[in-house]
Amino acid sequence: METVIALAGNPNSGKTTIFNSLTGARQHVGNYPGITVEKKQGLYKNNGNSINIIDLPGIYSLSAYSQEEAVARDFITDSKPGLVIDTVDASNLQRNLYLTIQFMEMGAPVCIALNMMDVAEKQGLKIDVPKLSSLLGIPVVPIIARTGKGKKELMDTAIESVKTKPEQKPLAISYGEDLDNALFEMIQEINSSGFLTDRYNPRWTALKYLEGDELILKLGNEAGSQVSEKLCSIVQKAADHLHKTLGTTPEAVIADHRYGYINSLVRQGVIQYPDDKERIY
Ligand code: GDP
Ligand code: MG
Repeated sequence: METVIALAGNPNSGKTTIFNSLTGARQHVGNYPGITVEKKQGLYKNNGNSINIIDLPGIYSLSAYSQEEAVARDFITDSKPGLVIDTVDASNLQRNLYLTIQFMEMGAPVCIALNMMDVAEKQGLKIDVPKLSSLLGIPVVPIIARTGKGKKELMDTAIESVKTKPEQKPLAISYGEDLDNALFEMIQEINSSGFLTDRYNPRWTALKYLEGDELILKLGNEAGSQVSEKLCSIVQKAADHLHKTLGTTPEAVIADHRYGYINSLVRQGVIQYPDDKERIY
């Protein structure tokens, strides 16, 4: 079977630089059907390996607020690439990890290309790469795409990962008692009915319902309106409660907890800032 690796990441994280250096002139640029988002694919060849590389549009999140976000996540669920190489700007690690953890929640096989290591170093940032990798449970390879440093290590890791398909359970962040309870109830409902389980992992579907994601709601209504209504009523109950007690929404609580999860990585020593004397000395 043909091996496909998708390059994903925030805009300006260096995806295209990596894509060009991997595929050279073996590129094809088209459009995704029916929309103006560019589809760039190319062939990577090395040591008898021939891999189809897709340069996905740059995005910050996996909601469906833009065509780019919808394209990226549909590509991952529908084409099931052997690996998603998530290009992360090391000099903006926390912001970039917001997308990374969503790939992990989705259950996509992910490897981080920790790019712009030269910029991070100039800024005096120290990133504990092995610690980041072990806390997230995915490979992290430091690179400088502009010079090609780390490219070989990245592709060796990527190919190894595609071949061995290491067990990677979807990341399950706690969203606080209220939403965790709602998620639990929704996941039971989804598991017992098999609702959308051919496309998404149950927790991801439940999260998307809580976020009020229009693409999933539409798919859900087509797949089985009874289950969908049941999920919506669980969401409504949780939303009413959050509104009454904290004046907030499920979507906002989810975003807060994602950032909280990322901050906890930082507190565990993944990044040391130059002015953070306590950590350095
Ligand atoms: P994309 O939006 O993710 O496709 O990002 P690009 O590949 O277009 O890169 C954005 C900018 O960052 C370009 O000016 C690149 O030359 C630059 N760039 C990419 N990788 C690196 C890197 O490792 N170090 C430095 N200093 N610049 C880089
Ligand atoms: Mg680009």
